[in-house]
Amino acid sequence: MVPVIALVGRPNVGKSTLFNRLTKSRDAIVAEYAGLTRDRQYGEAKWQGRTYIVIDTGGLTGDEEGIDAKMAEQSLQAMEEADAVMFIVDARVGMTPGDQMIAEHVRKLNKRYFLVANKVDSIDPDLARAEFSPLGLGDALPIAAAHGRGVSYMLEQALGSFPKDAAEQDVAEQEGEGAEQVAEGEEHKRIPGPSDKDGIKIAIIGRPNVGKSTLVNRMLGEERVIVYDQAGTTRDSIYIPFERGEEKYTLIDTAGVRRRGKIFEAVEKFSVVKALQAIQDANVVIFVMDAREGVVEHDLNLLGFVLDSGRALVIALNKWDGMEPGERDYVKTELERRLFFVDFADIHFISAKHGTGVGNLYKSVQSSFQSAVTRWPTSRLTQILEDAVREHQPPMVAGRRIKLRYAHLGGANPPIIVIHGNQVDAVPKSYSRYLENTYRRVLKLVGTPIRIEYKGGE
Ligand code: GDP
Ligand code: GDP
Repeated sequence: MVPVIALVGRPNVGKSTLFNRLTKSRDAIVAEYAGLTRDRQYGEAKWQGRTYIVIDTGGLTGDEEGIDAKMAEQSLQAMEEADAVMFIVDARVGMTPGDQMIAEHVRKLNKRYFLVANKVDSIDPDLARAEFSPLGLGDALPIAAAHGRGVSYMLEQALGSFPKDAAEQDVAEQEGEGAEQVAEGEEHKRIPGPSDKDGIKIAIIGRPNVGKSTLVNRMLGEERVIVYDQAGTTRDSIYIPFERGEEKYTLIDTAGVRRRGKIFEAVEKFSVVKALQAIQDANVVIFVMDAREGVVEHDLNLLGFVLDSGRALVIALNKWDGMEPGERDYVKTELERRLFFVDFADIHFISAKHGTGVGNLYKSVQSSFQSAVTRWPTSRLTQILEDAVREHQPPMVAGRRIKLRYAHLGGANPPIIVIHGNQVDAVPKSYSRYLENTYRRVLKLVGTPIRIEYKGGE
C-alpha cells in the first residue's frame, strides 16, 4: 500500500507551499489536459522511486470552535488515515500556543510524526531546530518550502524506510546492467506482472452515490461468479478474490461493501485516501460515473489521479436505465468533449441496478490489462521507432538533428517505452505525442496510458 502523509499545522505556516512542491510533477501532466483541475488537498507524489500520497489538511488553529471545529474534524480524519504526520511550524514566528495544542493532538495520535520548521531561509536553521523542542516532539527538521531547502533531507527521514515501488526497483536494476547489453527476450523478465494468485486486480472508483456498491454487488452476485472468502482485510479497502469463467480477479472495493449472507452492504463512507490507495494497488480501474449528472468536477479530479497512476482504465457510465434518448445523446456528446484526454479507454453504458451491460465490462478489463502488461521485445519497439522516425523526422536543435536510436520496455502497467538517443532533452512534447500515438496504433494498445521516457548519451 502506498504510504499516506498528512501535512498539519496552523494556517500560514506553509503547508500548501510544501504540498505544491511535493506534488508538482502532477501539475506538468495535468496541464496537458485542459479541463482537468488539480485537487488542492490530495496529491500523488514521488520521491526516489517511492510513490506516496500527501494530504494538505487545511489549517488547524489548535483551538477549534464553530466553523473551525468542522474544518478541524476533516483535518483530524485525514490524520487518522495517514501513515505519518508532518507537523509544520513557522520558524519565523516561533512557537505559539496553537502549535502546542496541535502538538497534543499529534502526540495522542500515536503514529509516526515529523516536526518540520519551515521558512528557515531568513533564520539560522540550528536555532529553528531547537526552538520548538518544548513541544516535546524532538528536534525540528528545518526547511524552506518556498525554496526547496532541506526538503530532500526531510523526505529521507520521512520516507526512507518505506519500500520502493516494485516497478521502480526493477527498472533501477536493469539500468544498472546497461539495458542495451541484455540479450533479446531477457530484458523484461523482472518487470513485475500481475501475481497469478490474485488475478487481475480491479478497483471500482468513483465519487459518492454514482453506484459503486450497487456495481460491486452486481458483479459479485452474478451467477457465473464464484466469490472466495476474503483473504484478510486491509486497513482500508477490502480485497475480494473471485473467479469468472476461467479468469481470476480480485476486486478492490473502496465502497466498503461487506457480505451479509447473500447480500453485500456498504458500511463505510467515501474516502479520497482509500480511493487513491486502491488506484495505486490495482491493475485496472473501473471508473464509475453517474449518467444522470454528467461529468462533474469531482469526477475529473479523481480521473486525474487515475491518469497519474498510469493504471489501465475502463469507464462505466452508470444509471443508463430509464434515460430519454435525448438525454443519452446529450451525455454522449458531453463525454466526447470533456473526456478526450482519456480517449484510450473503453466506455460502457450500464445499469448496475438492473445488471445491463455489467458483464461487458470484463471484456474491456481483459483487453486493457493485456495491453498494460504485454512484454514487447526490444527488436519490435526499436522497429516501430525506426519506422516512425523515417515517416516523420524529429526536429533540428541548434543545427543538429535529434537522433533516436533504439527503444526498450522499461516497465508495465503502465507500459513505459524507454527511447535511447542523442539530444533527447530537446524532443518536443508534440513529437513524444506522435511516438506515443504510433506505438498505441501499431501495438493496438487499448485502455492503458503509455509513458514515453528518454535516455541520453552520445
Ligand atoms: P498554509 O496556510 O499553511 O497552507 O501556508 P501557505 O503555503 O499558504 O504559506 C503561507 C505564506 O508563507 C505564503 O505567503 C508563503 O509564500 C509563505 N512561505 C511558505 N514557505 C515559505 C518559506 O520557505 N520561506 C518563506 N520566507 N516564506 C514561505
Ligand atoms: P456509491 O456511493 O457509489 O457506492 O453508490 P450506491 O451503490 O450506494 O448507489 C447510490 C444510489 O444510486 C442508490 O440509491 C442506488 O440504488 C442508485 N443506483 C445505483 N446504480 C443505479 C442504476 O444503475 N440505476 C439507477 N436508476 N439507480 C442506481
